[in-house]
Amino acid sequence: MTLKTVHSVAEMRAIIAGWRAEGLRVALVPTMGALHQGHISLTDLARRHADRVVVSIFVNPAQFGPNEDFAAYPRTLPDDQARLDAAGVEMCFAPNVSEMYPDHFATSIHVEGLTNVLCGATRPGHFDGMALIVTKLLLQALPDCALFGEKDYQQLMVIRRFVADLNIPVDIIGAPIHREADGLAMSSRNRYLTAQERAIAPTLHHVLQDIATAANRGNLIDPLITQGKADIKAAGFGEIDYLEIRDAENLQPVTGTLARPARIFVAARLGKARLIDNLAITPPQSVG
Ligand code: AMP
Repeated sequence: MTLKTVHSVAEMRAIIAGWRAEGLRVALVPTMGALHQGHISLTDLARRHADRVVVSIFVNPAQFGPNEDFAAYPRTLPDDQARLDAAGVEMCFAPNVSEMYPDHFATSIHVEGLTNVLCGATRPGHFDGMALIVTKLLLQALPDCALFGEKDYQQLMVIRRFVADLNIPVDIIGAPIHREADGLAMSSRNRYLTAQERAIAPTLHHVLQDIATAANRGNLIDPLITQGKADIKAAGFGEIDYLEIRDAENLQPVTGTLARPARIFVAARLGKARLIDNLAITPPQSVG
């Protein structure tokens, strides 16, 4: 195995300092582990931007709510290491909770505006916890670039905001959503699905595609959303946290018809899993 796994910030920094001394570019891909091909698509993209790729694996307690799946979240380090090694990743940083949150830890980060809608509305505190851990990881590794998936599009927008606001000297690179052959966005949480739920799950993507196509043709948005919610329910999903079209940059709601690049976002419960997905929608082309 050529992958090197380290568990402390000091070890990671020492290795990165060696690479820097050789003039090499470093990419960081933060993850919570239970790695799948979607994560590997990020490390492959990272390889195009850097000479050395570091993947962090940390299930961050601060971004889970009290009734969420922190304890149940899959932890599969040996399998993750094998995948990273096969993908040619040089270093895996897998700290434990006390390395990241030592005694007397007292700092928080809050990003206004972008974080009170969509997942922020149903997961209070989630984006504060995410912003804190990503800030720490960026400052610990000080990479040239860091890669994040559009799967978590709102997260990517929040990260771009605080990285700019805090002058963190790193290029943030967004990566397209990697999907199963039937359209389901890959996710570590897909392993919560039973076989029957797994068969239903791609409905989410198909509903987003239908809405995107109709909105692109100039259809009014509100009826499309109503129909989309009905389709998701009819497929067998439980509660729909949201199905909304929002501006692709500032995440403001879009009503009527589209004028600017937008994105359709969904979060819905299926059995034990809460699945999220999103899709770009381009405004209709004006004719003539
Ligand atoms: P996670 O381990 O779920 O926190 O994800 C770690 C990173 O991988 C985040 O930047 C995610 O957006 C990204 N990611 C997860 N699933 C996918 C996917 N299906 N396609 C692209 N990126 C993904």
